[in-house]
Order: sequence, then C-alpha cells, then structure tokens
Amino acid sequence: MTPQQNYPPADASAARKRMVQQQLVSRGIRDERVLEAMAGVPRERFVPPQLLDSAWDDNPLPIGHSQTISQPYTVARMCEALQLTDSETVLEIGAGSGYSACVLACLARQVHTVERIPELACDAQARVAQLGYTNVCIHTGDGSPGLPEEAPFGAIVIAAGAPSVPPSCVDQLAEGGRLVLPVGSRAHQQLCRYTKIGGRLQEEQLGAYVFVPLLGKEGWATPDS
Ligand code: SAH
Repeated sequence: MTPQQNYPPADASAARKRMVQQQLVSRGIRDERVLEAMAGVPRERFVPPQLLDSAWDDNPLPIGHSQTISQPYTVARMCEALQLTDSETVLEIGAGSGYSACVLACLARQVHTVERIPELACDAQARVAQLGYTNVCIHTGDGSPGLPEEAPFGAIVIAAGAPSVPPSCVDQLAEGGRLVLPVGSRAHQQLCRYTKIGGRLQEEQLGAYVFVPLLGKEGWATPDS
C-alpha cells in the first residue's frame, strides 16, 4: 500500500493523544489549552506522505528545501511560553509546513505567519485552507523585519534561530506582549522569552535548542556563513 492510500491513518487521533502524554505531559507541559491543541491539530497532514508513519515521532522531520517541521515538544514549549489569550493576534515568523500556525490558531484570535520559501508558503496555505483554519493568514517573504502592516501583536514567535533579537519585532510587540525566539549561533541557540513591560524587554531563558537559521534582513545574511 502506498503512503497516500493509507492516508490519513485511522488511528491518528490515538497517536496524537499518545504523543501528548509521552512527549509533552511527561516533560512538564501543563497548559491545558496547548495540550488540547496539540492533540487536535492533525500533525500527520503536515508531514511529507512518505514520512506519515513518523508524523508523531519525538523529533523534527524534513519538509523539503532543507527545512523541518519542529519536534512536537518544541512547538508545545514555544506555544506555552507565549501565554496566549484567545483575544490576541500573534505573529509567527517561519511558517514552514503551517503546522505550528494551526496550533497557534487554537490559542489566539488571529495568526499571521510569514514564510520566505514560496513553495512552502504555498503548500502551507493549501493545508490550512483544507483543514478550515480560517484565522490563519500566510504571508510570503522575509519575516525578519516583522509584519508592520498588521502590528501591533500581542505575541510574536520566531520558529528559526536568530543571531540577535530583530529590532522590528520589538517595535511591533504590544505593551505586555511576549516575544519567543531562539537566539544564538547557527549551531546552538537559547530559547528566550522577552516580555515588553513599560516599553522595555524582560528576558527569560527557556533552554538550549537547535533550529534552522532565520535568514533575512534582521537575521543571518546567508544560509551558511
Ligand atoms: N513552524 C514550522 C517549522 C519552522 S522551520 C512548522 O510548523 O512546520 C523554520 C522556517 O522558517 C523554515 O520554513 C524557513 O524557511 C523559515 N524562515 C527562515 N528565515 C525566514 C524569514 N526571514 N522569514 C520567513 N521565514 C523564514
């Protein structure tokens, strides 16, 4: 049987519930809304068909163009760190497959997500539409300078490793807003949450991670330098 014929697998919902228990709850994710979103969003629809059987594995997976869909735990950790309320607008930079945007869509009023690789943005757009996430808007281009036309945002998440905090994202964050991103070298980053209080950023470090690089005007200049 080809992967497509087996698609979607009948036990996908059970597999997601196992993923939530074994990878998220066991590692300390406590936010019920995040756990519910991770159990509900069909991760298996965002991975390449030939990787369907690995959709719920405890690791990132390739999605083409040298990019990855993040490990489930990483998505949950970032979503929890954003402390979203369902009245907020969130900006994501790095839509990739569109998976985390759909998780965010369960937690916020409106999601804007930016992807620099047009083919990925196009595929993500198709999935989001097919699955009926009407509060996700996908933009194609360099998201490192944020999305000024939709600012301010209650929260901003960058799903790619940045050399430093993009100043435009700080400008576009509302007072009380949270900015979550991995910052560091190309090889290793520290996941950080910045909260804007009185116009200034308060930093918290959330652990060591490895992400694909944030490329662009306020990220790394080239894929490999
Ligand atoms: N959130 C994604 C995974 C992100 S991988 C998912 O759920 O599948 C990081 C993504 O960031 C990649 O797709 C990469 O192309 C994108 N990216 C890197 N730099 C970017 C930039 N400056 N603007 C927009 N997207 C960027």
